[in-house]
Amino acid sequence: MKESGVDTIKLPSMLKRVVAQLSILIIVALVAWQELHRPPTILSDVYPYLTSLPPALVKQCIKENQTFPTIVLEELLAISSTLPEREALPLIDQLKNNVPFSKLNWGLIPRNTQKIVQRHREILNKYTYYHPNKYKFPVIGSTWYEDSFGADREGGKRKHEGTDLFGKEGTPIVSICGGKVEQLGWNRLGGERVGIRGDEGNYYYYAHLQYLSTSLVKGKRVQAGEHLGTMGHTGDALTTPDHLHFGIEIPNGQWINPYPFLEVWQDCQEEGSS
Ligand SMILES: [Zn+2]
Repeated sequence: MKESGVDTIKLPSMLKRVVAQLSILIIVALVAWQELHRPPTILSDVYPYLTSLPPALVKQCIKENQTFPTIVLEELLAISSTLPEREALPLIDQLKNNVPFSKLNWGLIPRNTQKIVQRHREILNKYTYYHPNKYKFPVIGSTWYEDSFGADREGGKRKHEGTDLFGKEGTPIVSICGGKVEQLGWNRLGGERVGIRGDEGNYYYYAHLQYLSTSLVKGKRVQAGEHLGTMGHTGDALTTPDHLHFGIEIPNGQWINPYPFLEVWQDCQEEGSS
């Protein structure tokens, strides 16, 4: 009698232990699964810096880099975009004289400012949007566009989350980068649209197309410069002039301004094809 009494007390406590251990295991497994499937962490300074670069300055640096090919574009751009000209010029002169970036004589520039330049160089090296010929301009043919990111839409109900590139109906549209087709076909706002997950993790959205290329397949790869379709005015662009709506969504779900990138890519392409 006594023994069986002990057993009935022991069993629930053992059960509790097993349940507790199992719960811990499940939590550990869940956390591990989430870690594995988490989008890559992007530090909060990356895109604010990249999208704040004036396209004219980037283009000027690309030109200068062509004249002095021994300079590294990312170093030139990091210095030029961070420091006032009087501080930047002596550093750029050193680069032109083949002084390595790590051996630069910074003169009176404070340590903290040096660190910001170094961080900007790191960002430009990792996120190569401004590196010539890494990305393609999405419209093949004449087009005009302005910086309308964040402008009111539907009477202020939502903000414009991209750039509209206007042109003639039927103008070819190409992929700006290599990646995988993630969304394809009709949706109410975008009309005939295609969404491509770029190899670096961003989502690129092309909307209002007249026709989508029949070679596109959901889940299939596309190359940079691959034909996606033609410019149109489908979806909520039905009553507007023909244009491509181009958007960039970074992995945390935030849409960023494509305008400065487009300006630089268009210039690179024109130089490359002329
Ligand atoms: Zn738009």
